[in-house]
Amino acid sequence: MDLPVALLQSLEGVPGYHREAFEAVHRSGEQVTSVRVNPAKASLLAGGLETYRISLPVSGKIPWTDNGYYLQERPFFTFDPLLHAGAYYVQEASSMFVEQAMRQTLDLNQSLRVLDGCAAPGGKSTHLQSLISADSLLVSNEVIKSRASILEENLVKWGGANVMVTNNDPADFSSLENFFDVLVIDAPCSGSGLFRREPEAIAEWSPHAVQLCSQRQQRILADYYPSLAEDGTLIYSTCSYSQEEDEQIIDWLLNNFELESLPLQLQADWNIVEVQSPERKGSGYRFFPDQVKGEGFFLAAFRKKDGGNSITVLRRSLKYKKRPKAKWRP
Ligand code: SAM
Repeated sequence: MDLPVALLQSLEGVPGYHREAFEAVHRSGEQVTSVRVNPAKASLLAGGLETYRISLPVSGKIPWTDNGYYLQERPFFTFDPLLHAGAYYVQEASSMFVEQAMRQTLDLNQSLRVLDGCAAPGGKSTHLQSLISADSLLVSNEVIKSRASILEENLVKWGGANVMVTNNDPADFSSLENFFDVLVIDAPCSGSGLFRREPEAIAEWSPHAVQLCSQRQQRILADYYPSLAEDGTLIYSTCSYSQEEDEQIIDWLLNNFELESLPLQLQADWNIVEVQSPERKGSGYRFFPDQVKGEGFFLAAFRKKDGGNSITVLRRSLKYKKRPKAKWRP
């Protein structure tokens, strides 16, 4: 697998990036398969979690989440009725780190209003649904209609009664001012973190695509920001290694919004790399596949300090009215 030279060069100096090991793990052909079990359905089944162990070849637990498991091999998932019953979700392991951001920044026993702003196909939404209390509300929004249908199907299978699926433009949410306690933006990105799993995506990558993704990420964040309540938590993530989509977005957020960066506690043996944004020293968390058992991932968490809408001017400057119709490529 030949990784883009421009990507490799752009990562020189990024904490945790070791070019040789990074290239070697992409050449290795190793595939990591993981699932997250639905705790609500586990309790309904007589055998509890053991039922899954019979259905799935579990090889170990994913350490940063309560219900995530690595599998020894990739089974024919579509033949498994438990998958269609929403008993588990096939999900990339690193991205389950969103659980730490939720647990460490919120009281999950409280009634929370949560907005998942880039929700399809539903990995984060099903996870969030399992983390929040029964009297909380999860709104899962997906801007692309065909993808919203897949999201709906996955959430129906998952089975929570406290979820609604919407198919709106992010800008539509700005009228719900200060409404949500939690805003999760798992942003569309250039996708370099998934190159090991999807080598065909390499051909679509370019420095220009990274720039376009970075601008789109800013527009999405600016559109959703007014709907986050004062003291609310913003969780931002990508599956890109590019600083323009990761650390530079942290700086952009801290420069343009009344947000504070929220550091998270890590265990040393998780091998997740803590980074700081170059300008404002906000905290971010990088996952490199040569160090963690999972794919490339990035996450940062923030607290909103005011309930105001200082962002209105910025949204105008990002030319919202002229935006092209959203298209989705990983
Ligand atoms: N959170 C999802 C999960 O865990 O399964 C994955 C989300 S994926 C990384 C990003 C999502 O953002 C895609 O479903 C894509 O359709 C959506 N998207 C693309 N362009 C968008 C835009 N301009 N505004 C909002 N969402 C967009």
